[in-house]
Amino acid sequence: AEERTVRGALIGCGFFAENQMQAWQQLQRDGKRVEIVALCDRDPQRLAHFQTLFGIEATFTDANAMFEAFAGGGADGKDSDLDFVDIATTTQAHAALVPLAADHGVDIICQKPFAGSLETARQLIEHCKTRGVTLGIHENFRWQQAVRSTIEALRDGAIGQPFFGRISYRNGFDVYRAQPYLAEVERFIIEDLGIHVLDIARALFGEVDRLGCEIARVNPAINGEDVATMMLHHDTGVTAVVDCSYATRLADDPFPQSLIEIDGKRGSLRLRQDFTLEIHAIEGGCEIRDVRPESPAWSEAPWRPIQQSVLAFQRDWLGAQRQGRSVETRGEDNFNTLALVEAAYRAAAIHQTVVPERWE
Ligand code: NAD
Repeated sequence: AEERTVRGALIGCGFFAENQMQAWQQLQRDGKRVEIVALCDRDPQRLAHFQTLFGIEATFTDANAMFEAFAGGGADGKDSDLDFVDIATTTQAHAALVPLAADHGVDIICQKPFAGSLETARQLIEHCKTRGVTLGIHENFRWQQAVRSTIEALRDGAIGQPFFGRISYRNGFDVYRAQPYLAEVERFIIEDLGIHVLDIARALFGEVDRLGCEIARVNPAINGEDVATMMLHHDTGVTAVVDCSYATRLADDPFPQSLIEIDGKRGSLRLRQDFTLEIHAIEGGCEIRDVRPESPAWSEAPWRPIQQSVLAFQRDWLGAQRQGRSVETRGEDNFNTLALVEAAYRAAAIHQTVVPERWE
């Protein structure tokens, strides 16, 4: 039988959602049966902009009105004529939008950070579970081709059991231009960016049992911290350093790359800025792999590696939806990434090592 088209709606037609829409439409062009059939933004100008850009007729300034418009009439006796919603708003809106979608029986993809506190995160996860809908968090950094290749090389045993890691994200990119709210927030680099890098650490080395952190604000024009240095101890015994900065001046700015160093018992991995992955073997010698991302046609420098990861995440989500498996970054999993963010702020405040909460 021919696969049914998976029908979705997008809520939040902002800066980043453009990438998500581009990715859905590319997947559709590539022959995947998925379609965004409605758009929602409380700002009519953003809504009109997306309507024109992506040629979607059905638009709503209110999410409740949108879900009501699609209520009933779903295929296979479903509650809704929507299969999923892609929530791309900033975090504050998630606490209302996630339960709303869940109550309409619609599967959910939600942007990171998916909740403003662990308590809210727990409630949203439980709510989705109760309503029988899936909650996948749009955590895309582990899907960047260079990062993914590093994860796979490690998982394939290329360097044996790792004992040390460093994941480093340091640049001087003006993030405040496209996302002005980032200059306002009290919590900045750990919550907005560090969250991704901490997630890479979890993807590489598993859960974290202790975390220390120091932060700094170098740019005087912002409210939050723009530098954070974290030390993680993982259950597996790996010690990892996760360091982030938006205050680092480099002639050859690496934005938006995360550079990775891993030392294992049988060799070492180095992910370099020129998109080479070096695999140094215990026997000597070094294999060099080209892990440059295949840039989608719609991508633009310097965002290409991130835009490629949005496409990769959404492609995997769609595959998971079809196969009835959950994505790696489902709510329960992402809770543990969010817990590292909370632990990092606490560790920075008390200048002590903290034991992060964990999803049981
Ligand atoms: P933005 O402010 O540009 O866009 C958010 C949009 O949501 C706005 O158009 C706003 O009007 C709309 N909105 C807010 N509340 C709403 C509601 N209740 N109903 C309908 N519409 C609502 O923000 P952005 O920079 O695009 O960021 C959005 C999210 O994406 C953030 O959580 C951010 O952390 C995340 N983000 C992720 C990545 C990534 O690589 N995964 C990169 C950038 C941003």
